[in-house]
Amino acid sequence: MIDLRSDTITKPTEEMRRAMYEAEVGDDVYGEDPTVQRLEEKAAEILGKEAALFVTSGTQGNQIAVLTHCQPGNEVLLEEDAHIFYYEGGAISAFAGVQTRTIKGERGKIPPDLLKKAIRGDDIHFPETGLICIENTHNRAGGAIVPIENMREVYQVAQEHNIPVHLDGARLFNVAAELELPVAAFTEHTTTVQICLSKGLGAPAGSIIAGSNEFIQRARKWRKRLGGGLRQVGVLAAPGLIAMTKMADRLKEDHVRARNLAEGLKAIEELEIVNHVDTNIVVADIENTGKSVEQLLEDLKAQDILAVPFGPSTIRLTTHHHITDSDIEQTLQVFQQLLQPVQK
Ligand SMILES: *Cc1c(COP(=O)(O)O)cnc(C)c1O
Repeated sequence: MIDLRSDTITKPTEEMRRAMYEAEVGDDVYGEDPTVQRLEEKAAEILGKEAALFVTSGTQGNQIAVLTHCQPGNEVLLEEDAHIFYYEGGAISAFAGVQTRTIKGERGKIPPDLLKKAIRGDDIHFPETGLICIENTHNRAGGAIVPIENMREVYQVAQEHNIPVHLDGARLFNVAAELELPVAAFTEHTTTVQICLSKGLGAPAGSIIAGSNEFIQRARKWRKRLGGGLRQVGVLAAPGLIAMTKMADRLKEDHVRARNLAEGLKAIEELEIVNHVDTNIVVADIENTGKSVEQLLEDLKAQDILAVPFGPSTIRLTTHHHITDSDIEQTLQVFQQLLQPVQK
């Protein structure tokens, strides 16, 4: 199987499995797991924040951030295709009791002028703007890199209004790898950040949220409330540490393969590549293939290739650690056979 559904399908490396076996552990709810502590210290350092917290998933990390920053009745501003808005089951309304106000972005960027207009003034009728969420890379924008200048502008507007900025950086390490900059160059323009260890970085599970000491102290309580306080979880922190320190540099390879895949697919007339491939995600519009998304995905699967639906006429293909150059070649051959069977 050539599994291009997501970078979340990556399995732990041998080194990670060995580290899991050997991990020193303790009860992390009592603050006694030395491996978790090492992971959190290292994460805080890499992310340029005072403190960090190991959480079960990216979704939990984002939700803890919203719960910690906001009060019920607040309004949260975010880009209209943001993961927190689009893919988290309405959790921010269900758990934090906040309402969302979405802003139409450009390839994941929130235009600062629209942001300014969306921030609420002091009026008895209005909800208070409690948080601004940004996302980098932006998943629904096809793994788009949000430029550092945009992050700086958004953070500046937020600071002028005393509103915190949370970065959903599930794939922030892809941004840093692609632009060859330290991760902290991006988190500098945020109040808090969430990063996934379990996507391109390859850990079996877990995310990190980072921010000030005071924020992380309150976040720890929210994690417990949500049932995310785990016990001998050093077995998961150990591979997380390897993911964060040793797997980041190779992410660029995934981006090169994604671009090669996109270039090859562009040569097939019936397909349109709808995203500019900045990182490891390729989004293809298949409308002109004469097949439905469902049918095409089924045909691909019959040829041992997996992808996911991404819209009424689009599919998403994501490169990762287990995808090789020859997998890309084979994928292109299968697309050609499926869509242009007569040409040779
Ligand atoms: C995957 C993802 C998340 C959620 O992470 P999970 O670990 O799957 O809960 C959040 N934000 C973005 C942008 C993501 O791509």
